[in-house]
Amino acid sequence: MSAIAGRATAGRASGGAEPGAGQTSVRFYGGLREIGASKILVSTARARVLLDIGLPMGEGSELFGGVVHERPGRELSDRLRVNQAPGIPGLWDPALLPEQSPLRARDPRPTALFISHAHLDHIGMAGLVDPGIAQWASGETVRLSRASVFAGYHYLGREPQLQAIDSTVQVGDLRVEAVPVDHDVPGACGFIVHAPDGVLAYTGDLNFHRHGGRNSLAFAQRVHGASMLVTETTMLSFEPLATGPVRTEDDVLSIAGQACARTPGLALVSVYERDVERCSALIGAARRWGRTMVWPGAVAAFLAAMGVEGVVTWDRTRPQTALQCAGLDAALAAGLTVQTVGLSEVASDPGGYLVQLDARDMPAMLDLPVEPGAPWIHAQGEPLGPFMPDWAPFQAWLSALGLVRVDAGSTGHATAGDLTDFVAHSGAGVVVPLHGRHPERLRRPGPILLPEYGRAYALDGSVLGR
Ligand SMILES: [Zn+2]
Ligand SMILES: [Zn+2]
Repeated sequence: MSAIAGRATAGRASGGAEPGAGQTSVRFYGGLREIGASKILVSTARARVLLDIGLPMGEGSELFGGVVHERPGRELSDRLRVNQAPGIPGLWDPALLPEQSPLRARDPRPTALFISHAHLDHIGMAGLVDPGIAQWASGETVRLSRASVFAGYHYLGREPQLQAIDSTVQVGDLRVEAVPVDHDVPGACGFIVHAPDGVLAYTGDLNFHRHGGRNSLAFAQRVHGASMLVTETTMLSFEPLATGPVRTEDDVLSIAGQACARTPGLALVSVYERDVERCSALIGAARRWGRTMVWPGAVAAFLAAMGVEGVVTWDRTRPQTALQCAGLDAALAAGLTVQTVGLSEVASDPGGYLVQLDARDMPAMLDLPVEPGAPWIHAQGEPLGPFMPDWAPFQAWLSALGLVRVDAGSTGHATAGDLTDFVAHSGAGVVVPLHGRHPERLRRPGPILLPEYGRAYALDGSVLGR
């Protein structure tokens, strides 16, 4: 039986049955043997809370990724047909559902969506949700989401109307508390759902090495003894399992700095712009290395909108895609401080620059004065890795130009060793490993639940039914 055939029937309503009085049910609609696409529905007879609403990424994204484009206006209905969106009644924007869809039925219970952080495998489908449903996230996540739209990023559907959580939100008889964690994007948090019959804790994505993991360690303390602990397990997906020390942000900059020092000419880099802290650090470090960091237009607009200082992008002398040009226009029109540089300036002093590439405009590398042997410093920017469809063509371009890849990444996810420690000391009634290809690799002395797609579980992990 294929993975899809084994799931709830395509497009049909699921998750609608009300739990018994005083009973909380938990259903998982993604992140099951995949990295990302997390969606956790917590329901009582009086309320529903959905934790994250992520898009499938990497190996789970082939149906609507790479050369395949979504059909305009059918982004949701097509995904429902192939189980890339859960059939939860009353969740989705009715305007995007077929007339006869049973999912248009309103659920009488108050329902709210909570976003752990602004990565697309957690927030990517928020624009498809019924606009009448409250959407909550940390203040920094709200800011980042708005900055990304400002810079030209388009959500599926409409821009999510996120509200900033102060500390807790009451939804019927469920109380949801946001607790900061360390990840690689501003505003990442986990959630604690206080239900009448127990407590569910959800990590979102986290690690225990960025900033010494102080937020994540505080989160671990805060959720100790939860009835059900749902944890990400990204790094259990890869062998050999990483248990040792992880590169620090200083290490990342040090590797990048050494690569720049080895080349007298232009150096190239890819860093993920939503890691605002790393981007900001790179701008400052490049300056110390005698180089100016140059970003594509939309990335520059995004970083400037996030308050990053010293942002430099291309002027009109370098052709960029329409998206990048529009980003620059938006930044300038909004009066944001973005400096520009021209191709001729870079050509006359290639060693004075460090350039972020646009992975969607690979031939544009030909405009740059790159010499064979020049470094492409990969620090988790696009293309993200071999699991992405644009990785192979990008490597072909690097090879054609004689560029040398320098790996300077540092994961945003907890190592296998840190995860094991975290769950071993969690005191949780049951642990649910999620958001990883090999959840079965998580070990602990107590119960572990490997949930099935769409099945209802009690907070103690026992099966409630479909
Ligand atoms: Zn994730
Ligand atoms: Zn993430």
